[in-house]
Amino acid sequence: MTYNIVHHEYDVVVVGAGGAGLRATVGLSQAGLRTANLTKVFPTRSHTVAAQGGISAALANMGEDDWRWHMYDTIKGSDWLGDQDAIQYMCREAIPAIIELEHWGVPFSRTPEGKIYQRPFGGMTTNYGEGTAQRTCAAADRTGHAMLHSLYQQSLKNKAEFFIEYFALDLLTDADGSVHGVLAWDLATGSLHRFRAKQVILATGGYGRAYFSATSAHTCTGDGNAMAQRAGIPLQDMEFVQFHPTGIYGSGCLITEGARGEGGYLTNSKGERFMERYAPNRKDLASRDVVSRSMTIEIREGRGVGAESDHIHLHLEHLGPDVLHKRLPGISETAKIFANVDVTKEPIPVLPTVHYNMGGIPTNFYGEVVTSHDGQTDTIIPGLMAVGEAACVSVHGANRLGSNSLLDLVVFGRAAALHAATIVKPGAKHGKISPASEEQAIARFDKLRHSNSGTRGTAEIRLEMQKTMQSHAAVFRTSTSLTEGVAKMKKTIESFADVKVSDSSLVWNSDLMETLELDNLLGQALVTVASAENRHESRGAHAHEDFPDRSDSEWTKHTLAWRPEATSVAFGYRPVHMTVLDDEAKVIPPQKRTY
Ligand code: FAD
Repeated sequence: MTYNIVHHEYDVVVVGAGGAGLRATVGLSQAGLRTANLTKVFPTRSHTVAAQGGISAALANMGEDDWRWHMYDTIKGSDWLGDQDAIQYMCREAIPAIIELEHWGVPFSRTPEGKIYQRPFGGMTTNYGEGTAQRTCAAADRTGHAMLHSLYQQSLKNKAEFFIEYFALDLLTDADGSVHGVLAWDLATGSLHRFRAKQVILATGGYGRAYFSATSAHTCTGDGNAMAQRAGIPLQDMEFVQFHPTGIYGSGCLITEGARGEGGYLTNSKGERFMERYAPNRKDLASRDVVSRSMTIEIREGRGVGAESDHIHLHLEHLGPDVLHKRLPGISETAKIFANVDVTKEPIPVLPTVHYNMGGIPTNFYGEVVTSHDGQTDTIIPGLMAVGEAACVSVHGANRLGSNSLLDLVVFGRAAALHAATIVKPGAKHGKISPASEEQAIARFDKLRHSNSGTRGTAEIRLEMQKTMQSHAAVFRTSTSLTEGVAKMKKTIESFADVKVSDSSLVWNSDLMETLELDNLLGQALVTVASAENRHESRGAHAHEDFPDRSDSEWTKHTLAWRPEATSVAFGYRPVHMTVLDDEAKVIPPQKRTY
């Protein structure tokens, strides 16, 4: 079938209007580059809107702090898989990034003296692990919402052009793999659009929906990761999937770590504050991987709460209605709606729930997409950048600290825009898209659109994938569970050839859109479980019961994983950067990680 493709030309195309995509968009348009932003949902409905607890920066508004302590905490939180130069960059740039947000209108909560309010978060310390840092800048428990609105307003003010409810399908490349544009589907009119650009920035967020129970929105399908994967670009560190300790039991909705930052605590069926045993110093504010593992052990050993002893209690009732109303209004409402709990009177039933993807498209700290052919040096993919949860910079390594994602979005969104402004010349010619690249992208779309006589519904295949991921790539993994998981995922992918899309309409065809998203999820699910099977150690969020220790000599390296065929995964590696940018900071050598 032939399609009339609408043609557009821009200096830069950003795919995604969450915190990362919008921050990049503001910077690009400020730099005078003609910038288009494509987004499958209205910008302020992007998943960043759900971010509750806050954004980290060592402002020292509520006690002593130093960005070097933030850097130390982030490296330790990453279980020494994070790149230390990128972490230094992020923690140092955090301070001006927050001031900039404040100047752009983000309505942060305030201290009595009028400074930005900051709360403690897990793993955030002073003096290299000694005290508790109050480092997380908050707009009550609606920080992401506040940020998205200000960033969208700034983008409009700077004349960025938005293509809203456009679904990006695939990257358009030349024969050498350099990226020159994107093919997108306008959901409202059904037309296809070719966006030619000198730089494409993927800011498409995470892929939490590969799992059955996730705090992420249904839109979190990692479409950019999948586009990169189809263009032959390896994905990095996909085995590291963060389980947040406090998803509401049953619904998976998030109760922010800020709730424990404000003084909330966890108990088991005996009423014990069990985190005192697992993390004697940091207790309920240990890093997320540590708390999620401890909760899972309590449940496994029969000390879970509820009729089936299968969850844990989070107590906030001792904080009192005033604090709850002022600091945690959103989660008070969420707990009422999704658990029928009045947080002023009773504990919230919670369970570790999939929350964040540390892995993604490998980049350097300018946002450029990199890969490694020899396992030692980085090779840049011309024309392509990635930022936000879609990217793996890698500042989060094996485990992200709470409130470091919103920071990652704005610091690296800004860095990508600044760098693009140095390499993109407004008057210069666009690169040539190879006809084969566009034909392939259209053929995939057209085939799925006309898969009307298949026998397996999209929802059925998706559920099978989600259940496999939930049980085979969970908080704890074993060689047996992972090997079985890989085999099951391959079968599920094979069955996708028989998917049934209800009709071939091009206009508002939500079934087709969900099928495209499922296609994207399947590839990421496979590399996630295969990368986990491949990593024979335990580090951060990857708790492998057959290899319970961290292996610094063998595994201090980033996994690169790609799919030579739909159901096969190949591996390569990149070194972890154990270097710093300058003498303002020191390398933190690997240490035993206790909280
Ligand atoms: P998103 O905000 O997910 O945006 C993705 C964008 O890409 C959207 O605009 C979408 O429309 C677009 N897109 C995707 N696919 C396509 C496509 N095919 N075509 C066109 N457009 C596409 N982190 C913190 O630091 N602090 C917190 O307090 C915090 N709270 C959180 C609370 C919850 C409930 C959750 C789930 C996460 C939280 N996080 C928090 C993590 C953080 O919110 C996310 O990591 C972050 O918001 C991701 O931002 P992003 O810009 O990368 O992607």
